[in-house]
Amino acid sequence: MTGPDSGAFVPPEKTEKKKRGPLGIRHQVLLGFLSFTLVIVVLLWVFQIFLLNPFYQAIKSSEARQAAKTVVQNLDSGKLEEVANRLCADMGINLYVTDELGTLYVSNRYPFRDSLVGDTGRASLIRIFDLVNLSGGTYTETFRSTLPSPTGVKMLFLYAQTARTADGENRLVLVESEITPVDATVQTLTVQLACLTVVMVLLGAGLALFLAHRISRPITSINESAKALASGDYQAVFEGTGSKEVRELAHTLNHTAGELSKVDQLRRELLANVSHDLRTPLTMIKGYSEVMRDLPGENTPENAQIIADEASRLTDLVNDLLDLSRLEAGVVALDKSSFDLTAAIRSMLHRYDKLAGYHFPFYADRNITVFADELKISQVVYNLVNNAVTYIGEDHTVTLRQTEENGMVRISVTDTGEGIPADKLRDIWERYYKVDKEHKRAQVGTGLGLSIVKNILDLHGGAYGVESALGQGSTFWFELPAPQPDTDNTKTDEKKGD
Ligand code: ADP
Repeated sequence: MTGPDSGAFVPPEKTEKKKRGPLGIRHQVLLGFLSFTLVIVVLLWVFQIFLLNPFYQAIKSSEARQAAKTVVQNLDSGKLEEVANRLCADMGINLYVTDELGTLYVSNRYPFRDSLVGDTGRASLIRIFDLVNLSGGTYTETFRSTLPSPTGVKMLFLYAQTARTADGENRLVLVESEITPVDATVQTLTVQLACLTVVMVLLGAGLALFLAHRISRPITSINESAKALASGDYQAVFEGTGSKEVRELAHTLNHTAGELSKVDQLRRELLANVSHDLRTPLTMIKGYSEVMRDLPGENTPENAQIIADEASRLTDLVNDLLDLSRLEAGVVALDKSSFDLTAAIRSMLHRYDKLAGYHFPFYADRNITVFADELKISQVVYNLVNNAVTYIGEDHTVTLRQTEENGMVRISVTDTGEGIPADKLRDIWERYYKVDKEHKRAQVGTGLGLSIVKNILDLHGGAYGVESALGQGSTFWFELPAPQPDTDNTKTDEKKGD
């Protein structure tokens, strides 16, 4: 069938040509990688070039504070001179301790280092003391070194802090630290970073292209196969290369394609079978009714009976189809109640009273009450007995047995007919399966009976099965949970229909 509603698959890009869709994986990976590289490069530039000097100054200032703190802690230790010497040598700083009157207790100057404090007299020290007091205990100042330097103008950082000795005397601790200009370093770094930026961008782009290709290739291939599948090609193969996830996806899709193919095959078979089974009785009905209309002599009760039989066959088929589709769609809710299973089977067997010459013995030790859907369980028994009648043996007997074991009641239906080949025992439960499609008798049934039985018992959670030997007959059985026997409700064997 072709035409606008034929359901042919149209890939999305063909329907939305003008719309700009989201970027493909390849471009996304490329863009993501390049952005990442760019962010790294920008961060390197910011930290290495623009923030180098402020960082360096912050570190120097922190060092000076730390040195002052150590000196303050050792003001009364008696090792002040020694501590100051060590700090001075280790950190390359100038260190002074003075009082309010400008008397120097410690004066440690790093060799060849310029000093603001070292070159000033008492008056300046007193002035700094006042400044520190005014600023709340600490004071910082940056000043230019007057000493000549080959690496540019040097700056000195002064940190001053007041403290009190154990005797209650005021002291001023002064730390001077040299700040070397970082311009030359920044220049070197700039050149280095420029080269690094080019290398990183090129490397990033190369790697991104490689990765994008690796990631997108299997997905593109899977997408192609998915399009083929969507257009009805169930043989489409999904190749999963690369990552674990893609392999899993391909595996799942291959499985899906296989299942879809099975469903499609089943659908075709079902359609063929249903149309065949509908056509046969309809042709008969049409043929016979036309004959009866056109030829007055043919208007016989026998012909009318044939029409009635074919019509009831049609009704059976349609009913079975409806039952099965509702069962399979899961829309059937069980109407469970406690009922006497033994009595229900016995009453059902009365339907066969009219079948002269057929025997339906039913062996049951006692009446058993089960909790199930009575109508549906009766339908199960009815289908099994009907099948047994269809394939009945020479003895024209269908034997029913009720047994109990491990809290379960088992109903079995046995015939001594032609039996079922062992390799077909599994398939007979499938919808529309007939062991011998050419066989005359096979045309009697709809091929749906056992499938309905299976669905009903599955809904009840009951076990079921079949034992059969070719030429010897078959025994179909099912089980339902059975409550413990009531003491006064025991019945003896009973035969019916003889
Ligand atoms: P049908 O309406 O054709 O009987 P069923 O689903 O009830 O459909 O059964 C499926 C097939 O299983 C039958 O076509 C038949 O080949 C086989 N079968 C079922 N019951 C029996 C039986 N008692 N003896 C032999 N074959 C049977």
